Amino acid sequence: MDYDCNALAELLFPDVTGTVAELEAQYPPRDLPEGARVTRFAPSPTGYLHLGGLFGAMVDVLTARVSGGIAYLRIEDTDKKREIADGVSAITEGLSSFGVTFDEGVTGFGTEQGAYGPYTQSKRTGVYHIVAKQLVREGKAYPCFCTAEELDAMRERQEADGALIRGYFGRYARCRNLSLDEIQANLAAGKPWVLRFRADGDENRRIAFEDVIRGKIEMPENIIDEVLLKSDGVPTYHFAHVCDDHFMRTTHAIRGEEWISSVPKHIALFKACGFRVPKYAHTPQVLKLDEETGDKRKLSKRKDPEAAVSYFTQVGTPKEALIEYLMTLISSGFEDWRRANPDADAAAFPFNLKKMSASGCLFDLAKLNDVSKNVISKMTADEVYARVAEWAKTYDEPFYSVFTADPQRSRAIVNIDRENPKPRKDVAKWDEVKEFFSYLYNEYYEPRFELPENVAPADAKAILNAWLAVYDPADDKDTWFQKIKDLCEPLGYTPNVKEYKQNPDAFKGHVGDVSTVIRLAVTARRNTPDLWSVMDLLGESEVRARVQNAVAAL
Ligand code: GLU
Repeated sequence: MDYDCNALAELLFPDVTGTVAELEAQYPPRDLPEGARVTRFAPSPTGYLHLGGLFGAMVDVLTARVSGGIAYLRIEDTDKKREIADGVSAITEGLSSFGVTFDEGVTGFGTEQGAYGPYTQSKRTGVYHIVAKQLVREGKAYPCFCTAEELDAMRERQEADGALIRGYFGRYARCRNLSLDEIQANLAAGKPWVLRFRADGDENRRIAFEDVIRGKIEMPENIIDEVLLKSDGVPTYHFAHVCDDHFMRTTHAIRGEEWISSVPKHIALFKACGFRVPKYAHTPQVLKLDEETGDKRKLSKRKDPEAAVSYFTQVGTPKEALIEYLMTLISSGFEDWRRANPDADAAAFPFNLKKMSASGCLFDLAKLNDVSKNVISKMTADEVYARVAEWAKTYDEPFYSVFTADPQRSRAIVNIDRENPKPRKDVAKWDEVKEFFSYLYNEYYEPRFELPENVAPADAKAILNAWLAVYDPADDKDTWFQKIKDLCEPLGYTPNVKEYKQNPDAFKGHVGDVSTVIRLAVTARRNTPDLWSVMDLLGESEVRARVQNAVAAL
């Protein structure tokens, strides 16, 4: 190009008066200790927080925290197609309900905090245009007037040519060599234009960079004249990334692995702008095992309800459990650390970005539920009561009324087999509580006497009648159980399981069968937490009524 670039810059951006130097002064390097890392989570406002997003946000926050740095939240709303009216709240609420908080940036729909803002890209047009004007002045960017049809024709030509690289570059880049007169005429004719980067890479040269997670990566240099500003003046992801991560003073751009192939483009852009290239870390994808094919695949927004973080709020997975499980996926060292520090807050884990695995991590709902059962088993009854009530208030109002009608009693119910050194691991999420304890609430109890195959109805009846005769609600647990043992022999059962196993033909069954029959009559289940506690909570008249009812039904 042999024209005056300053003249072109004025033609394209007559109203832009600010300078890059002013921006540098407005957003100075951060005053942080040596080694402190500045990271960002940068979602599009889609009204949806993907589990992979939460995973990435945790990596951002951990990286900043362990280094005494800053993590901030930036909303990338340059792609109008992906945006919805308030696409931000679902993201900020999803993050905060799982305890992932940022030091600065967007805090909700239309709100933010911090000195490096605005943190929403649509509010940063001024910044992009200043940098764009500077690039034009330096001959590093030019306007392109190609229409959609012309770009289609170019693609067809590339196809016909069998071009190995596709895109706007080299001899295909028609507008790269327009004269100032031609540009002026196009502008005067009101033709829409985009601003393109004048790439100076060589496809035969390679560029190397050090990915913090993946190590050295080498790729051909960028030769594509990428769009920087769209015809409405809105930046592309590429240009916004470079301007924002520079002026927000990001030290580590941690993002999904789908961006690896764009790195040469981004490095070229950073250099063209005269900005220091941040460190890149490309995180692995969160995968799941497809039940039909048995293959690992990306968690899909369409197919997998658990792809949305809101799913875990709806089913009532405690935030500690989801975070605990995601930590095991984020860092292979987490489980060892957890064994050594069983009661520490997961946030205290000495995270190291470099040790993160580069390969996709498998999200397994069953494993999450195991982790969750463990987390819940360690909670106090008061805590469980409060969390269940809070969850039910929003997600199951009828159950909320039943559960909170007698708080003392519900607390005692969730306290069965809890608050002891070996607490029972039962529910994994709050939406299981109603069903798990349903027989303890008359509103939900449904009698059902499906006897085990080895117990005849007549024997069951005999067991229940004999038990009713000795049942005394004042008995402590040992006395209560001794009475059940004592019922065995007269009814043809043995109180001694070992004895039964040695000589099964000599008995109708053992004490386990006897108590199963009683349990079935009282709870309609074969398996429950501690039956003595259950009876204690039901009270004498309810227990007797249920057992008599069972006898009548048999
Ligand atoms: N807005 C980009 C996305 O949604 C973020 C990529 C990045 O973190 O740089 O994928």
